[in-house]
Amino acid sequence: MAGDPRTIARLSGSAAEAKQIQREQLSERAKAENILSPEQMRSGNVPINAGKLMMTMLGGEIRPMTPDDLNQFRQKARELGRRFQGGITARQVVDMSLTVDRQRAREQIRMVVPAAARGLKKGSAVTALEVRFITDASGETKGVYRHHVTVEFTGYPEQVIAGEDTAQRAAAKMRKQGIRFDCDCGRHRYWYRYVASVGDYNAGRPESGFPKIRNPSLVGVACKHVLRVMSEIEGGSAVQAFLARAIEKGRKNGDGAGHIRQLQREAERLADKQAKRPMAANARASGDRDFDRARRALRKQSRATKVKPKRTAIGSKRMQALGATPGAHDKLIATTRDLGLTPEEAVAILQAAAKGKS
Ligand SMILES: [Zn+2]
Repeated sequence: MAGDPRTIARLSGSAAEAKQIQREQLSERAKAENILSPEQMRSGNVPINAGKLMMTMLGGEIRPMTPDDLNQFRQKARELGRRFQGGITARQVVDMSLTVDRQRAREQIRMVVPAAARGLKKGSAVTALEVRFITDASGETKGVYRHHVTVEFTGYPEQVIAGEDTAQRAAAKMRKQGIRFDCDCGRHRYWYRYVASVGDYNAGRPESGFPKIRNPSLVGVACKHVLRVMSEIEGGSAVQAFLARAIEKGRKNGDGAGHIRQLQREAERLADKQAKRPMAANARASGDRDFDRARRALRKQSRATKVKPKRTAIGSKRMQALGATPGAHDKLIATTRDLGLTPEEAVAILQAAAKGKS
């Protein structure tokens, strides 16, 4: 199957199209009932919606929420916030993603074209480069031929100023630095936008409603479209050239706020080239260096980037030490609170410690 030509049709109108989709989704969000707000999560009382207790899929089955679920949601959100304190890179997005999302990215998404880029300003300072990517759609949703993925490169101001590097070299450095991202698909919207917002790497509007049905355990980070874009950021020479152009433009403009566009003809050439590539999950090296690099980039490589919250580990040691002293009970309660652990977690840690001794 060749790629659908509608994916990259009318590239110049794609910004307006992306904005229109955002507006529609925002108005749907405003009308949505049954959203678990941060206030409701904090209150500790299970919210009632249309006369029924709010539902969750935590544990794998749909059931009414309990106060303990709310505790767990709060705890998971806190851990997530700590985990992403240092931001996120394209490599980490791939490494922390779910196997199923990486597999879909490899097998279903064949095209990634950077459509436009501009320096994002906060006050008078440029803080990042925003790049709009277009990918094809897997065809699962009727009438949807493409998706809009936005990536903000936070290393841009530094690379614009670092004039001792060529734009090419600066772009190569920038793609290893921090990013924020957004996608207009349902997977990002209902599973991952909340995760991105708590992790503070969302490029679009933040989502404050906890995904109590779709993703109550807050696992994974990115949809197949975002993952394909990440693989091109890491391994694609067309994206590298596009980023280098944006840095050149930023340097010329002085303030880095420049805007660049992809030419329709160049986008078509790229899409054509990508459409000819093999898509099977087990596709071997194809000899197309760009393609092989991007495929490799979708493999999980490094465990080092999987940062577990350190606090639990430290907490676990302190809890174990405390268990053996007089007045342990009161101290334990206070420490549990200090460490942001739930009573259940504290008990689990103590039980594990007891087992270790016997
Ligand atoms: Zn997506």
